[in-house]
Amino acid sequence: MLEIKNLHVKLAEGDKVILNGVDLVVNAGEVHAIMGPNGSGKSTLSYVLSGRDGYEVTEGSATLDGVDLLEIEPEARAAAGLFLAFQYPVEIPGVGNMTFLRTAVNAQRKARGEAEMSAGDFLKLVREKARTLKIDAEMLKRPVNVGFSGGEKKRNEILQMAMLEPKMCILDETDSGLDVDAMKLVSDGVNALRDAGRAFLVITHYQRLLDHIKPDVVHIMAGGRIVKSGGPDLALEVERNGYAGILAEVA
Ligand code: ADP
Ligand code: MG
Ligand code: MG
Repeated sequence: MLEIKNLHVKLAEGDKVILNGVDLVVNAGEVHAIMGPNGSGKSTLSYVLSGRDGYEVTEGSATLDGVDLLEIEPEARAAAGLFLAFQYPVEIPGVGNMTFLRTAVNAQRKARGEAEMSAGDFLKLVREKARTLKIDAEMLKRPVNVGFSGGEKKRNEILQMAMLEPKMCILDETDSGLDVDAMKLVSDGVNALRDAGRAFLVITHYQRLLDHIKPDVVHIMAGGRIVKSGGPDLALEVERNGYAGILAEVA
């Protein structure tokens, strides 16, 4: 589903290189986790895939179901089925959460050549999904993420994901800042979306998230590359021994 080959990325301004040849294949139905020390390029990878400004791809490719992501606008990437839950969710003052969700859902449907969802169907769906994430009606009415706690913002990201039903979901440290109950809610939300036609890339620092969202493959990223891949045991090894041992081994 997602195929990244030899991806090299630098900052658009200046010549700081951040990604140094990332190779990654995520098949439909799979959950891959990316772990790695701070500053290794995990967030940058998710930004570049989703099309954020400020980065320049100098080499390599990234495709989603054969669609060249790097050649199309962020909106088209979303329409192609890519979704990024941000490490730092953005506040959008003046735009109601519900209005935002409805606009996003209908833009997605339009891009796919489907009819708009009726107001009634939308309301029913959003209430149902919000309930499972314990997002109350008042939070749906407030401006997007404005004044939300860290945990509420992360749950709101998962609500967006649940409403958009993307094919390829990237979660960047969705667990950071969550207490155990919120982590369970978020994990349950993600697990409810696991499906043979959908794949997940879960960026996390902590093995504990992977107790809830069981990955098929775990990758370690360091210095802008994936330096080691393995099964769920690799995350346990990181938890026990930190990154030092793995980094020394691959150096
Ligand atoms: P991670 O998510 O693994 O912690 P990031 O992708 O956020 O890592 O960052 C990788 C490296 O690139 C870090 O050294 C970070 O400081 C640097 N970096 C990323 N974006 C920028 C930017 N816009 N300006 C300057 N440095 C950046
Ligand atoms: Mg970081
Ligand atoms: Mg990061």
